[in-house]
Amino acid sequence: MATIYDRGAPGRRAASTPSPKRGADELMALIPEDARRDKLPHLPQVSQPELVRHYTALSRLNYGVDSGFYPLGSCTMKYNPKLNEDLARLPGFAGLHPGLSAERSQGALRALWELGEMLKRIAGMPAITLQPAAGAHGELTGMLLLKKYFQERGEYPARHKVLLPDSAHGTNPASAAMVGFKVVSLPSTSRGTVDLEALNKALDNEVAGIMLTVPNTLGIFEDEIAEITRLVHTAGGLTYFDGANLNSFLGRALPGEMGADIFHFNLHKTFSTPHGGGGPGAGPLAVSDTLAPYLPLPDVVLEGEEYRLSWDRSQSIGRVHPYHGNFLVSLRALAYILLLGDEGLKEVSAGAVLAANYLRAKLEKVFQLPYAGLCKHEFVLSGQGLGDVRTVDIAKRLMDYGFHPPTVYFPLIVKEALMVEPTETEPLEILDAFVEAMIRIADEAREQPDTVKQAPHTTPVRRLNEAQAARQPVLRLP
Ligand SMILES: *Cc1c(COP(=O)(O)O)cnc(C)c1O
Repeated sequence: MATIYDRGAPGRRAASTPSPKRGADELMALIPEDARRDKLPHLPQVSQPELVRHYTALSRLNYGVDSGFYPLGSCTMKYNPKLNEDLARLPGFAGLHPGLSAERSQGALRALWELGEMLKRIAGMPAITLQPAAGAHGELTGMLLLKKYFQERGEYPARHKVLLPDSAHGTNPASAAMVGFKVVSLPSTSRGTVDLEALNKALDNEVAGIMLTVPNTLGIFEDEIAEITRLVHTAGGLTYFDGANLNSFLGRALPGEMGADIFHFNLHKTFSTPHGGGGPGAGPLAVSDTLAPYLPLPDVVLEGEEYRLSWDRSQSIGRVHPYHGNFLVSLRALAYILLLGDEGLKEVSAGAVLAANYLRAKLEKVFQLPYAGLCKHEFVLSGQGLGDVRTVDIAKRLMDYGFHPPTVYFPLIVKEALMVEPTETEPLEILDAFVEAMIRIADEAREQPDTVKQAPHTTPVRRLNEAQAARQPVLRLP
């Protein structure tokens, strides 16, 4: 692909500006001497159509939820209503300076307050912060709260261990370790759930808490979750639930009732902000009364008819983000919740679970499914058993059939993992087309394995060295 510098010719312009009334020398004199340059910057010289064609062509090299099915496990790459984008672009919101006084930003503060109230109700928990900017940032904030709680009680560093099932999301152990906790891995049972016996053995007076991915990365809900949280609480620890994939039980069950002390949302997965391209996102954190005194500041509070900021919390861990987090992401979430209402939110989880089980039931006839049974929002196949065709080959071949590949080689407890999350927004014919492509690839793996092993054949670039792109990024034009 040519760069914009490879197009055009000297003198071509994409825009015309009125010719200046003053001469070049006179204009130059207006620029402070130390800011002047002898040489003009090296800029592309292209006409407007060349410019438009260049970027339109680039956009077509990309793949997104607006181009097709994107079953990237654990990422909830669903369709999001464009209405919420319009809303986030309203000048009254988008142009608002976050440093403006409370009197002059009542509408924005009200939006934040209302979203906080709704998320508390959705989690069944009494307190919330909207500050964290992503799921992993919510985890980090949660771990800071956990540490602060035990510090205040004089029990840290005595309690310095965090238990993590081996089916947890990869960011969980990283977040616990970053705060200084020692990560202790818990094995799963053959059903893919936490091994209660192993949990019991691991619980001692050095354990600060447990981090549970709910549902776990196999797409399986811990059916003993109430027992798990009871055991941890009895041992003096607290419980963290990673709720990034809340579209699996949204509107149907309350983490607060399951014994969660900390619960994080991923607004950019479940609640409308498009997920991808590196952000921005939001990872609000709901907490139990035990941890409420340590939440970040400030809070938006409602007094009479007026919203204001409160700094009234002496034990707070402080700020984790400037101002109020990623405000426009919060705004999209509020719009999404208001648009759907209680019944609509329940339909989200019904659709996500139905679509995942539909695909699972069809695909387990053709691919290995190491952890069998009903799933929630996703399931994990294994690419084993197809000769020397591997999961990476299946993923690449899917692109030739017009689909984004699933998440691959995660979770680590499944060999050659293919983690499929269809989301709640795909129609039946798309799910069927995906099944058909997967079955064709399985056939090809037996009959013409080289076709699969050399895929993709139809994409703008063929197989890339993925590790090299991450380890030796080239960030400058030659
Ligand atoms: C996506 C995800 C995260 C991390 O969220 P980010 O916003 O990408 O930091 C954490 N846990 C689970 C289960 C996830 O799916």
